[in-house]
Amino acid sequence: MVLRNVILNNVRRKHTWIKPEGYDTGISVYNCIVKEKVPLIVKNKEFTSWYTCGPTVYDSAHIGHASCYVKLDIIQRILRNHFKINLITVMNITDVDDKIIKKSLQSEKTPTEIVQHYEKEFWDDMECLNVVKPNLILRVTENMHIIKDFIKRLVHSKHAYKDEGGSVVFNVKTVNDYGKLQNIVQRDSSNLEENLQTPNTDFAVWKAVKENEPYWDAVFGAGRPGWHTECSALASAVYGDNIDIHAGGIDLRFPHHENEEAQCCAYFSKSQWVNYWLHTGHLMQNSIKMSKSLNNTLTIQNMLKICDAETFRMMCLMSHYRHNMEFSEEYVKTAQTLLKSYKNFVVDCKAFISGKLHSAINREILNSNLTENINKLHMALNNDFDTAACIKIINSVVASTNKMLHTPVESANNNLTDVASVISILNFVVNTFQLFGMDLNKTVAVNQIESSDLTELLEILNKFRQNVRILGLANKDKSLLQLCDGVRDDLKKCGIIIKDHGKLSSWSK
Ligand SMILES: [Zn+2]
Repeated sequence: MVLRNVILNNVRRKHTWIKPEGYDTGISVYNCIVKEKVPLIVKNKEFTSWYTCGPTVYDSAHIGHASCYVKLDIIQRILRNHFKINLITVMNITDVDDKIIKKSLQSEKTPTEIVQHYEKEFWDDMECLNVVKPNLILRVTENMHIIKDFIKRLVHSKHAYKDEGGSVVFNVKTVNDYGKLQNIVQRDSSNLEENLQTPNTDFAVWKAVKENEPYWDAVFGAGRPGWHTECSALASAVYGDNIDIHAGGIDLRFPHHENEEAQCCAYFSKSQWVNYWLHTGHLMQNSIKMSKSLNNTLTIQNMLKICDAETFRMMCLMSHYRHNMEFSEEYVKTAQTLLKSYKNFVVDCKAFISGKLHSAINREILNSNLTENINKLHMALNNDFDTAACIKIINSVVASTNKMLHTPVESANNNLTDVASVISILNFVVNTFQLFGMDLNKTVAVNQIESSDLTELLEILNKFRQNVRILGLANKDKSLLQLCDGVRDDLKKCGIIIKDHGKLSSWSK
């Protein structure tokens, strides 16, 4: 019976999560270890540590990367700008890996040429998606000394051993709680033996050198690091024995994050290294996961031809970060329609504020709507960063305000107190999207007339003016020529220069 209890405790320990001490953000966040929402407590509001697993730079980043990094960017913006947390963000770049070596052999380019090309492309893609760069970017090959020291200590403390091939392997049986991030279902006591069987999940922390592969010398043999160890060593070098938040796509939860956690717990002799793991959901198409291995994915640049960066961000906002997101024509259209409705809302609010639109505004209702929805928005953000709920809140504010804006009244002037109420609602909507990394004002300015449309319009206007001028010259009609001069002068004030060359006219910016 005693043995039975010990065994049960051992099984239960797989689910142990230690609630940290520090500053309670008021946010409740999903925790994959206890499989429920828990309070997000950071050690220090002025120094909150965040680590994101970065890409292996051997190919173009795809839409799955886009959804992960945009969703995490939104959460980081919320923490920084809404909850006023001083977030320190770190990301690794895996620039030595089997895939890079394979690509190098296939393409006859050196591994260095490959990683430099694809890393630059990755950051260009992130800029297109308006993803804020991490505060600190750590490339594996530039920090090999840190990784080697990390492995040396794991070998010394007998958590890692050398296998027959000369690689250094981490022994998962030397740590408690291995498997805590996995979706392990508590089984009943009749299956105890099955519960206690540890799968053979030992993994390489250092891969022994192979012919024609890049390698680094080390006291435990020449070779290169294993992927899981890179993140453990680099994140530990910055943040030490405890990290507030560690993030990545759900694909990384096992084995990558599980192994990161196991190594660091072993390295620091602790039972918890990361306090909060954040995982973003899969990107799906026709209910099938989009992935490189299934060959159904899109590069970020090809994706941006189908929907622009703001529409994609809108799609990410509409789907909870933990949920799978369906990339379909219908979903793109829904996001585009919503964005257009916000754009029209901003235009209508501005028309009312400037006195071009006269509407039946009930400011008491507007003001109480605003107070209620500011609170609701805060609650939604508190509830595991529920941006999908935030969008519903914004939609209800926009709909109720639109109802008033679209009810015309005959009036020479708008009541200025009503104007102030509309400004407050407009600010709320614009500021909320600003928080999520979207500038509705800019969207309106750019989207009202696309620059290509503007060029076309100016061509039409110039041609029309040219024809009127030819007519004026032929008939010696001074009034027509004066009208043409007036258009030229007005356009000059807008930065458009019209020049007449005999009977022909041209324009430039
Ligand atoms: Zn990682």
